Amino acid sequence: MRPVVRHQYDAVIVGAGGAGLMAALEASKGCRVAVVSKLYPTRSHTGTAQGGIGAALGNREPDNWEWHMFDTVKGGDYLVDQDAAEFMCKEAIRVVYELEHMGLPFNRTPEGKIDQRKFGGHTKEFGKGPVQRSCFAADRTGHMILQTLYQQCIKRQVTFFDEYRLVDVLMREGRCCGVVALCLATGELHVIHAKAVLMATGGFGRMYKVTSNAHTLTGDGCAILWRRGLPLEDMEFFQFHPTGIYKLGILITEGARGEGGVLRNRTGERFMERYAPTLLDLAPRDMVSRAVHQEIRAGRGIDGKDYVHLDLTHLDRRVIEEKLPDITDFVRTYLGLDPVRELIPIQPTAHYAMGGIPTNLNAEVLADEQGRVVPGLYAAGECACVSVHGANRLGTNSLVDIVVFGNRGGQRIAEWAPKAEWAALPDDPEGSAQEQLARLEANRGGDEAARLRAEMQQVMMDDVGVFRIHAGLQEACERVNRLRAAYQGVGLSDKGRRFNTEVEELLELGGLLDLAWVTATAALARQESRGGHSREDFPNRDDAKWLKHSMASLRGDAVQLAYKPVTITRFQPQERKY
Ligand SMILES: Cc1cc2nc3c(=O)[nH]c(=O)nc-3n(C[C@H](O)[C@H](O)[C@H](O)COP(=O)(O)OP(=O)(O)OC[C@H]3O[C@@H](n4cnc5c(N)ncnc54)[C@H](O)[C@@H]3O)c2cc1C
Repeated sequence: MRPVVRHQYDAVIVGAGGAGLMAALEASKGCRVAVVSKLYPTRSHTGTAQGGIGAALGNREPDNWEWHMFDTVKGGDYLVDQDAAEFMCKEAIRVVYELEHMGLPFNRTPEGKIDQRKFGGHTKEFGKGPVQRSCFAADRTGHMILQTLYQQCIKRQVTFFDEYRLVDVLMREGRCCGVVALCLATGELHVIHAKAVLMATGGFGRMYKVTSNAHTLTGDGCAILWRRGLPLEDMEFFQFHPTGIYKLGILITEGARGEGGVLRNRTGERFMERYAPTLLDLAPRDMVSRAVHQEIRAGRGIDGKDYVHLDLTHLDRRVIEEKLPDITDFVRTYLGLDPVRELIPIQPTAHYAMGGIPTNLNAEVLADEQGRVVPGLYAAGECACVSVHGANRLGTNSLVDIVVFGNRGGQRIAEWAPKAEWAALPDDPEGSAQEQLARLEANRGGDEAARLRAEMQQVMMDDVGVFRIHAGLQEACERVNRLRAAYQGVGLSDKGRRFNTEVEELLELGGLLDLAWVTATAALARQESRGGHSREDFPNRDDAKWLKHSMASLRGDAVQLAYKPVTITRFQPQERKY
């Protein structure tokens, strides 16, 4: 058994990306807050976000939040909850200015306002043409958000448990009352008793072989709540970003196309003209990713291979080097190519989880499809599903989501926690975490975990990727389930307690396998094509049967699926043309 250390805080925020830090900052205005993060905060994936944060500031040309809301709803193929999208698009403006006032160094227009650029799916006047809405700090927007928020949290004396890994969330009689975390440095368990817990653990792109996501994006928070019996919403919707560096998956921001870059096939054709005549290369990501795949299937990939080109060579060298410095660097470093003169080989890369922990507009976690709230439990950011992205997220809308709903969740906690009664911890709060770790120590180590991970990533890439079909999805469910069974036998080669990263990898693999299973199962059930979920056997969107959110829960050892309606306020579903 591992030694246990105990703490008490009004609120615990799990995750120190943009969502977690924003929530911590707000919550700290009303109560004592601790942040638990498996990474040093500024290493969170938010720090890699390149392109920008969308807000209808109208600094370059007229814009308003209602157009932003329309684009978000249509971009999400009408699966977006419109009350949430309205809230987000209005709040985006306030929160971006708040970030500016905290000191975030945005690029500037000649008059000194926050500069804005075009991004996929963002339009003026309800789809008339692209609009400059993405506020950016070169191609390091996320990095700047993270640094700015971290400084503010330090200033407000938020307590940080850096390199502590969440292993369990504590519940008693349906209420959340704390967390159990593993300290990487010592191997001790820490039980943190809290009135409120906010999950901000980010996405889970690591279930796929080719992904833009950092190695740490393993969906731990989602998997832990799922095992505690809570539902996950819209898990079948996973976004592929069209421009990952060929084979590596490293992201080339959509900002490159926002600045004028275009996609070309082996004949040099700007093929998006055939797929999206109005928005061209700036159509939403699901459409561009499918177009790239279709070109490759039709034999128009470069040299007949499975990639196409991103062409920036017609852009001014200054634009490339000043507005896209980091990606220019990536291309030079990883490919040995100079984007100023040479074409960049790209392929779609697994990028963003639209689904996750269901919440309402206050970032309160929902226990079921009826909307019952789990007292004391909140979620925000990529791990959550509120749902503002529906079936496909627009570029720049995740950074908006994390700051807006992180802010909202933090505010709610600041209001609620000081007044709330303490709930008692369950008996033996660390019991289940101890058991899980003891099993990994008791099992024999070896390279089995690496084999399971590689197979999962390949299956998900092949069968639960850009295009899906019944037989493939069925097979993916079965294979992932076999991998889950095999996982029960994996163990540690390194039994040490201090800085044991193997423990971390095994815990992450277990979570990813569960989430892969839920994703494949929900995708098998949804017999239509919508946004990022494209079924070759059901090529059309079917609003009569499928205009609804899925809610998957673990019952026994099966995925149980329920559904709930989409909130529609201003915009009725229409055909999605760009
Ligand atoms: C390369 C790239 C570029 C992107 N560019 C853009 C963009 O330009 N615009 C845009 O809107 N979106 C962009 N996105 C998406 C966006 O950046 C993310 O969706 C968003 O930053 C997620 O923020 P988050 O706070 O939810 O999670 P993250 O920033 O991923 O943070 C997750 C946090 O959870 C912690 N954590 C996870 N598991 C545990 C655990 N078990 N125990 C303790 N802590 C844990 C981690 O330590 C980390 O602090 C991009 C994504 C990628 C990958």
